[in-house]
Amino acid sequence: MDTRAGRYFKWLLFWQQQGRCCYCGEHVVLTYRPYEGARPYAATLEHLRRRADGGTDHPSNLAMSCKRCNNTRGQRDWLSYASWRRDEF
Ligand SMILES: [Zn+2]
Repeated sequence: MDTRAGRYFKWLLFWQQQGRCCYCGEHVVLTYRPYEGARPYAATLEHLRRRADGGTDHPSNLAMSCKRCNNTRGQRDWLSYASWRRDEF
């Protein structure tokens, strides 16, 4: 979601989550250039409920995660993925 609204939400969530990924809790960086967005610690907008499962772009469905978590989450639902990233299993 590389739109004005998408960038705004990412910025907002960055402050709400104090610059940490919603899954692993690591610090992320806000990036503005495409080549920086490919880095593992780049901030990405995450749909908690995947769009494939009927999730929307509504703010209540958005969170900020690092690129690495965003890429490796796959089909898992976000709660079990967050626990797994934090070694809670
Ligand atoms: Zn992460």
